[in-house]
Amino acid sequence: MDINDILTHLGEDRSKYFNAVAPPIIQSSNFVFETVEDMRIAFANELEHHIYTRGNNPTVAILRQKLAALEHTEDALVVGSGAAAVSASVISNVKSGDHIICVQKPYSWTFKLISKLLPKFGVDFTFVDGKDINNIISALQPNTKVLYLESPNTMTFEIQDLKACSIFAKQHNIVTIIDNSHASPLFQNPVDFGIDIIVHSATKYINGHSDVVAGVICSSKEMIKKIFESELMTLGLTISPHDAGLMIRGLRTLELRVKRSDETAQKVADFLYQHPKIEKLYFPLHPSFDQYALASKQMTGCGGLITIKLKAASKESTMRFVRSIKRFLMAVSWGGYESLMIPSIAFHDIPGMPDSPIHWSMVRLYIGLESAEYLIEDLSHALDAM
Ligand SMILES: *Cc1c(COP(=O)(O)O)cnc(C)c1O
Repeated sequence: MDINDILTHLGEDRSKYFNAVAPPIIQSSNFVFETVEDMRIAFANELEHHIYTRGNNPTVAILRQKLAALEHTEDALVVGSGAAAVSASVISNVKSGDHIICVQKPYSWTFKLISKLLPKFGVDFTFVDGKDINNIISALQPNTKVLYLESPNTMTFEIQDLKACSIFAKQHNIVTIIDNSHASPLFQNPVDFGIDIIVHSATKYINGHSDVVAGVICSSKEMIKKIFESELMTLGLTISPHDAGLMIRGLRTLELRVKRSDETAQKVADFLYQHPKIEKLYFPLHPSFDQYALASKQMTGCGGLITIKLKAASKESTMRFVRSIKRFLMAVSWGGYESLMIPSIAFHDIPGMPDSPIHWSMVRLYIGLESAEYLIEDLSHALDAM
């Protein structure tokens, strides 16, 4: 379907709400039935009817249609956070005695789910370097049920060969799940490579305005129904209708925002790559990236995340860079209008905590909607100040 149709019209039956252009936010916890017969019909298929907002809600339903279409899947669920989307998808596909293969150093709370929470329920795991499919194949056990991917991976953006992963998984009846937050549905549609479940932190590009925390699960009708009827309803992973309304509004400009962030990031990456104070640039669609060929095959764009390793002789030199930056806010998250940075040095020297394995001279930048010139000026000044 044409992206213009998806973002502007799909799921919006305006005749149902006074021909209003903007869909109403149906901020109601429950829905009324005229007859017992109608109620029975709804109970028989809660996902398709409006009974109670923990399950389905008309505003959320509009969003679900748009998100499924964006990811080329049959259906989608919207939940209260990206972490909820990850957890529900994984938990729904394992039971006690099963084994998960997961890429090394996934998003921090995904790591906790797989290495801390699920082992309490008898689910085993192996983390592997997913750059080489042979590492994934070698981790196979008779009880492997889930292959969990994140491509590009957090911070240093390792890529997995999605086609090879899905071929391997299908041979062994393994469910494949990918966190596709980084590339967004605009630049990578994993289902086209045979991946089963696509999850997003919608907090990032999908909402895009740094004012909602939400998650998305896209998959087949069958898989979505399974997750809905077990994890979504029992764990109560609901998003509020008001947040769904904000996300519909965010989606109107998805293409504009993500393309702008991507194009600006390309320019900033080019600037950083040639700068003498930069030791290493991590940006999957820069020709210097070690997996550039695979990244170009799977993604039509990259998005605004860039990691740099500064040529910093000391922690103090890194601190001078960080303190000199004025136009990137220092904060977690990404995907909004505002440019951000996370210096790895903030995860070092915390009393009572082990240092991050990521070197203190590394900084992750997120390129927002500001102009390339504006951001490069700031970076240039801060690199000089090192
Ligand atoms: C932020 C993020 C998450 C978690 O999403 P929340 O909405 O914060 O729960 C998961 N994966 C990636 C890649 C993220 O950046």
